[in-house]
Amino acid sequence: MIDRKRLQERIEEELKRFEETHPRSKALFERAKANFIDGVPMNWMVKWAGSFPIFVESGEGAHFTDVDGHRYIDFCLGDTGSMTGHAPKGAVPAIKDRIDRGVTFMLPTEDAIWVGEELNRRFGLPYWQVAISATDANRFALRLARHITKRQYVLVFNYCYHGTVDEAFATAQEGHTICREGNIGPQVDPAQTTKVVEFNDIEALEKALAPGDVAAVLAEPVMTNIGIIHPEPGFLDALRELTRQTGTLLIYDETHTMSAGPGGYTGAYGLTPDMLTVGKAIGGGIPTAVYGFSEAVAERIRGTIDVEGADVGGIGGTLAGNALSMAAMRATLENVLTQEAYERNIALAERFSEGVESVIQERGLPWIVKRLGCRTEYWFRESPPKNGGEAAAAVDYELDRYMHLYALNHGILMTPFHNMALISSQTTVEDIDYHTKVFRDSVDALLGTRV
Ligand code: PMP
Repeated sequence: MIDRKRLQERIEEELKRFEETHPRSKALFERAKANFIDGVPMNWMVKWAGSFPIFVESGEGAHFTDVDGHRYIDFCLGDTGSMTGHAPKGAVPAIKDRIDRGVTFMLPTEDAIWVGEELNRRFGLPYWQVAISATDANRFALRLARHITKRQYVLVFNYCYHGTVDEAFATAQEGHTICREGNIGPQVDPAQTTKVVEFNDIEALEKALAPGDVAAVLAEPVMTNIGIIHPEPGFLDALRELTRQTGTLLIYDETHTMSAGPGGYTGAYGLTPDMLTVGKAIGGGIPTAVYGFSEAVAERIRGTIDVEGADVGGIGGTLAGNALSMAAMRATLENVLTQEAYERNIALAERFSEGVESVIQERGLPWIVKRLGCRTEYWFRESPPKNGGEAAAAVDYELDRYMHLYALNHGILMTPFHNMALISSQTTVEDIDYHTKVFRDSVDALLGTRV
């Protein structure tokens, strides 16, 4: 269906255009190479579709401007970190106020009380701890799970992503756990720490949990990092039932599935995990994350952590729970990621999906669109993948690159790694409809339907 030669030519043309129109970003990138490996402060920043990353000047709401003066509609939103929109008006005053009054003390502030109560209300778990990143929240949740169960393994789903958590960079090959491709300097062979099964495979899950040596299943209730993969009917019930039967803790990572509603997928569908982690957007972009526990888990933890040795126990962090994070979480949850905001944003995400679907239909493409609340994405395959393995096999890097580049050259930033868009409270109907137009134009330019 896609003429690969033409695709290559189109990529070349778009790359040329990108370079011509971003001279300042290019110059900054060249300078940055002197002091940053690959010219970027964080290695993922090399993964953009252009030949260098664009340097940002400022962001406001659903838009940002780069150093070359181009304005973009931002559907990436910091890969969820800014799902609130940039500089969210409902949170910035409280954040500024906290900065003026001191940001970190290694002591609690009163905002913690409000945040704890609100997390309980949203996610249905009574006890909470704060970390700096979702990665840390996951690491600490796994440590505590091992601590109280005295079990060696954790179980994750194939092609999951839970941050830079060692145990999760594993995949399954002929029934054995091996390192996932690209795993940099693995600290421990994941075969010693991790069992991997495919999402939606109840039989494999049952078999893996049966020996009773898995401390916890760490899972997104809907996979989002190899594309959106919904649980099949009954799968999450089976997951809950099997973990309970085998004394395995169930940890839901809601960092991305927070797009489903104010209480994530857990709140929206009344799930009952033993532990829950969430980061990124909950502080409106200020680094923070939380991990929560059920009453039963808290009971098992209570009294088992040595107060004298608390600072060397492997959970916590000097800046975790700092005053700024707490103020940011309070303001974000109170004023930005509200029920009303979700209702509006989800309706716009539906409009985004319908727009892309209409082009797919008009042009008879074998592609699909998937959505999870205010997160939506399109796929270059005919039917929804059932699990991570199927999804990974459908990735088309060249086509991804072309679609991202075309969008970028027309003032739209999509989430890298896949064709995903997030809708914030400041995204407008005009932004969505403009995307549909650019998507149609990019397809036509590729197929030669209209150039
Ligand atoms: N959990 C999930 C589901 C994620 O998608 C990510 C990041 N993409 C993380 C955890 C880690 O977040 P961070 O990089 O902010 O630690």
